Amino acid sequence: MVVLLKKNADEKQLENLVAWLASLGIDVHKSEGEYETVLGLIGDTSKVDIDFIQSLGIVENVTRISEPYKNANRKFHPEDSVVEVAGHKIGGGHFQIIAGPCSVESEEQIISIAREVAAAGATMLRGGAFKPRTSPYAFQGLRAEGLELLLKAKKETGMPIVTEIMDLSHIDLFADVDLIQVGARNMQNFELLKELGHSDKPILLKRGLASTMQELLMSAEYILAGGNENVILCERGIRTFETYTRNTMDVSAIPLLHEKTHLPIIGDPSHAAGISRMVEPLSLACTAAGADGLMIEVHNDPAHALCDGPQALRPDAFAKVVEKVKKVRTALDLGNAAE
Ligand code: PEP
Ligand code: MN
Repeated sequence: MVVLLKKNADEKQLENLVAWLASLGIDVHKSEGEYETVLGLIGDTSKVDIDFIQSLGIVENVTRISEPYKNANRKFHPEDSVVEVAGHKIGGGHFQIIAGPCSVESEEQIISIAREVAAAGATMLRGGAFKPRTSPYAFQGLRAEGLELLLKAKKETGMPIVTEIMDLSHIDLFADVDLIQVGARNMQNFELLKELGHSDKPILLKRGLASTMQELLMSAEYILAGGNENVILCERGIRTFETYTRNTMDVSAIPLLHEKTHLPIIGDPSHAAGISRMVEPLSLACTAAGADGLMIEVHNDPAHALCDGPQALRPDAFAKVVEKVKKVRTALDLGNAAE
């Protein structure tokens, strides 16, 4: 961190600042130029409140030159992390496709979709039991019953299951879930993240609707700092001024996050656009950009889906997307999908 001082900064206030930083274990290197005085802060500055320093009367400007996340940072962990979900590896060249309905609606629905997505090449089954809906009057999910139905589908098909946790109080219900999703709306539910940091379950952390990549990494940091290293990031589109799509797929997040972090990153083209015919091109874009997997919503009857029907693919369309994704991976020599 570098602090530029105001001209003629009060010596007493400067001494106080240096003493306060020393109490945090930070050494200060002072460079006095003809026109400017600059302080170089040396040590672990992740606990230093940059806004507090900026607010001081003697400070002109503060810049953080190292990232505030340590555990997620590729600098301290150069190799890709590989997260294993019930024997399926994601990251470091391993690619998985997660598919299933937005929400679990009935036993028949989830089991038939599970069979169809498995036949098409998906390796994990998704399905929401607890649904975060904008309207309190919209379908809220089958809740505990939905989890039971997912477990039945897992038993029938052998597919690991992925489902969203919305509240800490439900954690005991997730004991047999293979990959716990933290949705966009809960990306900054820090108490939930801390608790998941103490779990040994793999966590799928989705980027918040209006969160920066650094905020996503700081949220991952909460889970990692608690000792849980099994974190997979998910780019699911962010809110922009565009109205033709539900969100805007930030494809650049995939290569950029790969630079910043060793954690695997998957793409969710369904929530990104909110339009089923955009799922194929966005899946191909995410794959070509180096995603470690995809999460795609599939429904056997999108017109009657209780949630997110307009973005759901029918199983036959999903199968075509999987074929094309495999071709992209082969063409770019990225390895086989669903290894
Ligand atoms: C979902 O996966 O169904 C979901 C609600 O996603 P997001 O949190 O990205 O909106
Ligand atoms: Mn959905």
